Amino acid sequence: MKIFYSETHRKHQPPFEVFDGGKRVPYLENTDRMDRILTAIEKTDWTELTPPADFGLDPILAVHDSGYIAFLESAWREWLILDPEVSSSPEQNAFLPATFALRRNPRVPSTLLGKAGYYIMDLSACIVAGTYEAILSSANCALSAAKSVISDRSSAFALCRPPGHHAGKDYAGGYCFINNSSVAANWLSAKGKVAILDIDYHAGNGTQDIFYERSDVLTISLHGDPDFEYPHFIGYADETGAGAGLGFHRNFPLPKGTGDEGYLSALDEALKLIRDFAPNYLVVPTGMDTFDGDPLGTFKVTRAGFAEIGKRIAALGLPTAIIMEGGYANAALGENIVTLLENFKS
Ligand SMILES: [Zn+2]
Repeated sequence: MKIFYSETHRKHQPPFEVFDGGKRVPYLENTDRMDRILTAIEKTDWTELTPPADFGLDPILAVHDSGYIAFLESAWREWLILDPEVSSSPEQNAFLPATFALRRNPRVPSTLLGKAGYYIMDLSACIVAGTYEAILSSANCALSAAKSVISDRSSAFALCRPPGHHAGKDYAGGYCFINNSSVAANWLSAKGKVAILDIDYHAGNGTQDIFYERSDVLTISLHGDPDFEYPHFIGYADETGAGAGLGFHRNFPLPKGTGDEGYLSALDEALKLIRDFAPNYLVVPTGMDTFDGDPLGTFKVTRAGFAEIGKRIAALGLPTAIIMEGGYANAALGENIVTLLENFKS
């Protein structure tokens, strides 16, 4: 199985993020996550680590607002000019706004901090010097996996960092900047019908936002109920698409403490929807934060659960692009993802 990966993600290493309550904590979406996965992958004899190709900006701009991408490209440089103190110790700093947009008014302000409040939805999407380069390379990993799914007629894994599924058309959040899974799915949608099955613990709000009015891409997300869990404002069961996309989006909000049995039963419902839709390709935004003990989750999915989840998704028999999203129980992360991927060996 081809695994698309680039070392460029190491350039995105914010020194902190801000948790609920205003606590400044070490950045949880860190490079150690990738190291744990790489170590586990190295022990297999069926994986092939492959550098991503460069797809340029076009497939990204097909999904994201151009003003938003331009903001991501220049934000750090502009911040250095606005706050000269940062340039004396850039490694101890990260760029974040402190004021956020009320999305009742579509106006985009002209200043850096105004734009930041408009384009960033929370205090986890920190921008540092290497962020833009890292997010492009992450998107290229997802696109390379999508291309491989077509050219090799087999499944592929994009080991993406930063993750993507919380990034909407024109906003960053939840450690995400470019929605890698959506960029890949949109690229695939030019070749056939696509279903997206998001199995990260958190609702795939960005993906929902991007495809909500489309009928050619079925989007499904299984996640902690947003009534108690991030991203709080989206991911409810009654959100089923709009316009031409009505009926082509489904959320499965699940209760705190959901274990293997509860999860697999929701997954079976989701898989039935995918079978009925009869897509040509499947994209699976894959977070391992459903794992029992994940610091950002409340579910109790076990490693045996991941084996079964992988088996049931693979049984669809579709060319599948598996895209890395969250997962913060780093000690178990590598073995967990390999356990899931094993089902997709060709
Ligand atoms: Zn997550």
